[in-house]
Amino acid sequence: MDCIFCQIVAGEVPAEILYQDEEVIAFRDINPQAPTHLIIIPKRHISSLTHLSEKADSFLIGHMVNVANQLAQKEGIAESGYRLAINCGEWGGQLVPHLHMHLLGGRRLSGKLG
Ligand code: AMP
Ligand code: ZN
Repeated sequence: MDCIFCQIVAGEVPAEILYQDEEVIAFRDINPQAPTHLIIIPKRHISSLTHLSEKADSFLIGHMVNVANQLAQKEGIAESGYRLAINCGEWGGQLVPHLHMHLLGGRRLSGKLG
């Protein structure tokens, strides 16, 4: 398995893990774009948003949002505000082909999305 995020899940690549349960794991981005920049991923390899199954994965994606909200509280950025972003595919800016959600905050973010 040459997926970097699967290697983090397996403990083969070090990461600053802030949360994990049976379904998801969250860690600090190695190249932060904001004072708080966390990555939330499913432990199971799903390539991208396009590969989510409506029936099987609706709980998972909701759970990822809930975990991100809890981490925003822990990081002390819930009040000031934050952004959740999921890039999908080449033109969506997705570089790591394992579904992941960015949690960004700790400064006023650019209003630019694309
Ligand atoms: P994306 O462009 O949406 O695919 O974002 C991939 C993100 O993963 C980038 O923000 C990278 O800095 C981050 N990243 C890549 N490798 C690692 C790693 N080993 N540990 C933590 N974050 C990583
Ligand atoms: Zn993977």
